[in-house]
Amino acid sequence: MRIVAPSWHTPTDEDGWRLRDPTGGAQTYTTGHPRYLVHLSRRCPDCLIHLRAMEDTFLRRFADREEVIDCGWYTTTALGQLVHLADARGGR
Ligand SMILES: [Zn+2]
Repeated sequence: MRIVAPSWHTPTDEDGWRLRDPTGGAQTYTTGHPRYLVHLSRRCPDCLIHLRAMEDTFLRRFADREEVIDCGWYTTTALGQLVHLADARGGR
């Protein structure tokens, strides 16, 4: 995904980002909270640590699977906003 523009993240009532996923089909554009994202295009120590931790965890569990895997942590709202289930409040 790439960041397209700043955008209000309704599920958390905080500033977020409008995101574009060229392979997303009906969900090409979503809005997510910055804490759901990692920096890939610039050297960011915090994000590199987080990314390596995710690789250690997920490559070990899923490396031999070909299909798209949904771990059930995130959903999208009726407004097309990406939300972590722990952040979801009152179905917004
Ligand atoms: Zn970062």
